[in-house]
Amino acid sequence: MTPMMQQYREIKKNYPDTILFFRLGDFYEMFGPDAELGAKVLEIALTGRDAGPEGRVPMCGVPYHAVESYLAKLVDKGYKVAICEQVEDPKLAKGIVRREVIRVVSPGTVMEASMLEEKRNNYLLAVTVDQGEYGLALADISTGEFRITEAKGENAQIKLIDEVARLNPAEILASSDINADVVSKLRTIVSNSLTLVPDQEFNFRAAVSVLRDHFGVLDLRGFGCQEMVLAVGAAGGLLSRLLEQSGGSLAHINKLTPYSLSKFMFLDHATRRNLELTRTLREQDKKGSLLGVLDYTQTAMGGRLLKQWLEQPPIELAEIHKRQMKTEALFVDYLLRSDLRDALQDVYDLERIIGRIVYGTANAKDLLALKHSLQQLPVIKTLLERQAVQNDALADLTAQFDSLADICALLEKSIADDAPFTLREGNLIKTGFRDEIDELRYVAKHGKDWVASLETQEREKTGIKSLKVGFNKVFGYYLEVTRANVSSVPPDYIRKQTLANAERYITPELKEYENKILGAEEKLVALEYQVFGEVREQVGRAVKRIQQSAGVIAQLDVFASLAEAAARNDYVKPVVNDAAKISIVDGRHPVVEKMLRDELFVPNDTELDQTKNRLAIITGPNMAGKSTYMRQVALIVLMAQIGSFVPATRAEIGLVDRIFTRVGASDDLATGQSTFMVEMNEVSNILNSATAKSLIILDEIGRGTATYDGLSIAWAVAEYIHNPQRIGAKTLFATHYHELTELAEILPGVCNYRVAVKEKGDNIVFLRKIVLGSADRSYGIQVARLAGLPLEVIKRAKGILATLESQETSGKARREISAASDGAQLSLAVVPEEVVPEEETEGERIVAALTALNINQLTPLDALNLLAKWRKALSE
Ligand code: ATP
Repeated sequence: MTPMMQQYREIKKNYPDTILFFRLGDFYEMFGPDAELGAKVLEIALTGRDAGPEGRVPMCGVPYHAVESYLAKLVDKGYKVAICEQVEDPKLAKGIVRREVIRVVSPGTVMEASMLEEKRNNYLLAVTVDQGEYGLALADISTGEFRITEAKGENAQIKLIDEVARLNPAEILASSDINADVVSKLRTIVSNSLTLVPDQEFNFRAAVSVLRDHFGVLDLRGFGCQEMVLAVGAAGGLLSRLLEQSGGSLAHINKLTPYSLSKFMFLDHATRRNLELTRTLREQDKKGSLLGVLDYTQTAMGGRLLKQWLEQPPIELAEIHKRQMKTEALFVDYLLRSDLRDALQDVYDLERIIGRIVYGTANAKDLLALKHSLQQLPVIKTLLERQAVQNDALADLTAQFDSLADICALLEKSIADDAPFTLREGNLIKTGFRDEIDELRYVAKHGKDWVASLETQEREKTGIKSLKVGFNKVFGYYLEVTRANVSSVPPDYIRKQTLANAERYITPELKEYENKILGAEEKLVALEYQVFGEVREQVGRAVKRIQQSAGVIAQLDVFASLAEAAARNDYVKPVVNDAAKISIVDGRHPVVEKMLRDELFVPNDTELDQTKNRLAIITGPNMAGKSTYMRQVALIVLMAQIGSFVPATRAEIGLVDRIFTRVGASDDLATGQSTFMVEMNEVSNILNSATAKSLIILDEIGRGTATYDGLSIAWAVAEYIHNPQRIGAKTLFATHYHELTELAEILPGVCNYRVAVKEKGDNIVFLRKIVLGSADRSYGIQVARLAGLPLEVIKRAKGILATLESQETSGKARREISAASDGAQLSLAVVPEEVVPEEETEGERIVAALTALNINQLTPLDALNLLAKWRKALSE
C-alpha cells in the first residue's frame, strides 16, 4: 500500500459505520465502499486511485469549499460523516502530512445554519433503561439546550415513546439494554437514525464525572438532578459522545435542565397527530395546523419556543396564569405589541449564532448579524420599561433582560460592515480597532507611495538631487547615491553595495518599512484572522448573558405572537381554574374557521363537567361537523393551558391533565398493524392512562370491524370511561351507532347531542349547530350523493337500505339491555327475537316466587325444601 493509503486505513479503522471525508489538498476524498456509497448518494463521478500492490481502489471527492452542501445531503439521508483534516502545514511536514478526524457530523450534531430548520430544534437524544424505566437526555448543540427527564412508573414505556415522538429528535443513541420492541418503535420515529450504544456508556458514576468536568462544578446538586440516576447516566453518555464528535468548544452547553413529565399535560403521539398541533396529518404541513394559526413569531427562537409550548402545555395553574397575564399585557397594549414586534423583526437567531461563536465556526456575517440584533436590545428594553410603569406583568422578563451594550459596542468597533463570508480574505476588522492592522493596511495600500515619497523626502533632507530609491531581490529596498554625492550622505545611512559609479544604502527606517511592505497583504490577512478570532472569543465569553437575553426574547416573541393571533382572530382570555368543568360559549375551531371560504363558521357551546355532563354522545350525519366540534373543544382547552387566548366569546376551563383523541382510521403500515388494530391500541392506551381530570375525544370507535362487535366495544368503552370508579373523564363521543344514545337513559352522566341538519326533499342542509338530543338517521346516502357517487349506485343503495330497515322492524330483532344494580357494569345483548321464549322463564318464575316469599312465616325445613325444589327446576 502507498503510505497515504496506509494512513487512510489506519484512520478509517476507527470509524467503521461512518463515511470518512479524507482531506487531500483542496478536496475531501472518499475511498473504497465509502466512495461507492458517496458517489451514488451525492451523484458524483466515481474514479479510482492507485493504492499500491493492491491495485486501484474506488475513489470520489468533493471540493472543500462546497463541502457543506454535500454534507447536508449525506446527513439528511441519515449517514454519519467523519471529517479528517490535515493537521500540519504540508510545507513543514516530514514525509506524509499528519491527518486527524476533527469532527463527526451526524443528523443530531449539525451546527451549520444551512442544514438546520429555523423554527425547529435539532435534538440528539440518549435513552437508557433500567428495569422497565427510562432515562432520557436531549441536546440541541446548535442552541446549547441540554435537558433530561425520566419515564417511570406505570406505563413507563408508553410515556417514553410519546415523549420521544413529541421531541421528534434528529438522532437517537439508545442503550443496547433496551428491548427490541421499544428500539424498533424508536427507530420509526427517527427514520432509522438510531445507534445502539453499549449500556456502560451510560454509567451513572462516569456520567457524573463527565458532567462535573464539563460544567466545572463540584456536584450536580445545583442543577437539581441528583436523584435522576437514569437520566444523568443518559446525559453523561450523550455529552461524552458530543465532546468526542464535535470539533469545537461546547461551552454554550452550560447547564443541565431537568424536567418532569408530570408537570405537563400528557399528550400521546396519536393525539398530537390527530389534533394537528404543529403539522397537518396528510401533508405534514405547518399551514393548516394550530401552530400555523398561532405563529406570528418574528424570530427563529420565538418560533421554536412556541412550537415547544404547543406540544407541552403545563398543568400548573400558577404557570398558566403567569403566561396569561403576559399574553394579556401585550394583547391590550396594541402600540407596545406592534413596536415590540417591529424590534423583534431585526433580531437574528441569537441562540444559534452564539452556539457557532463558542463552537468556533461563526464567520464575520454571524458577528454582524449578532451586532445587528444586539442593536435592537436597548429598543426592546425601553419598551419593556415603558410597560413596567403601567403593568408589571412583564417585570420578571424585564429583570432578566441584559441589553449587552458592551458586546454590541465591541462588535460595532471591531467588525467591518462589509466583511466577507470567508475568514481568509481580510477585510474583517474595522479601521481604528487595532493599530497594527491599520498600519499594515496602510502600508499594503500605500507602501509604494511611501517609497516614492521617501525619495523626495530624502532628496530634500540630504540635498542630493540625484538620490533614488530602488529595489532588488537581494537587498530589497535601497537608497542609491552617485559617487559624486557620497560626501553628502548622512551618517545614519548604512552602506550595502558598491557599484561602478554609485553606492547603495539602507536605513533602519527603510528596512522597517520594507518588512512591512513585503508580505503586508499576507500578514494583514493573517492578523485580521487572528484578531477576528480574539473578538469572537471575547464575545463567546458572554455566552451565558447572551443566552439569557435570547431566552427572554424568545418568550417575548411568543407572548407577542399569541397576543397578535388573539387580536387578529378575535379570541378571548379564558378563565382557567381548578374546577372540574369545561364551559365554552360560542366556541370555534381555530383552524377550520380560517379555512372556510364561502361559509361562515358556526360557533357552538360546550358544557362538560364531572357530574351530569360527563360524557356527551354526539350523533349526526356524516360531514355535519362532529369531528370539527370535538377537536375544537380539545384545541380550546390546549390553547387555554399554554397561556393563549381562545376562539370563543367566553370560556371557563378546569385544568385538564391529559387529552386523548381517537380520531379517524389510519393504517400504521410501518409497524405492520391493521386499521382496527391501531384503533384498538389507541383505545386501550386511553383506557389505561386516562384519569378523571382528562379530556377524551372519541370519534367513531369500533367502526373498523363488524357492526355488532363494533357497537359492543363502543358501548363497553363508553361505560368504562363514564364510570368514576374506573375513569370518569370528561368525554366527547361521536358515533353513528344510534343505539349508544340509549346510554343517556341508563347512566347519570351521559347526555345526547346531535348536529342539526335540515332536510330539503331528498337533500340535506348542514346547519353545523350542536343541539341537545339524538339524531335518528345518518343520512349516509345523501352525503354519498353530495360526494358525487354515480346515481345508479345511490339508487341501488337506497333500495338496499329500505329492505334492511323493513327487515329490522318486521324481523323483530330486539335489543335487550340489562343493567347491573350499580348502573356501572352494563351489558348489551343483541338477541334475535326467535330464541327468546315468549313465556316466563324458570328463572323469572323463581325470582317472582322468591320476591313474594314471607320469610317470617317460613320454617327452616320449608326453606330447605324450597331451595332444593328451585335448584332442581333450574338444573332441569
Ligand atoms: P364524518 O362523520 O363523516 O366524520 P363529521 O360530522 O365529523 O363527518 P366534520 O369532518 O367535522 O364532519 O366536518 C365536515 C366539514 O364541515 C368541515 O371540513 C368543515 O368544512 C365544515 N364544518 C364543520 N363544522 C363547521 C362549523 N361549525 N361551521 C362551519 N363549517 C363547519
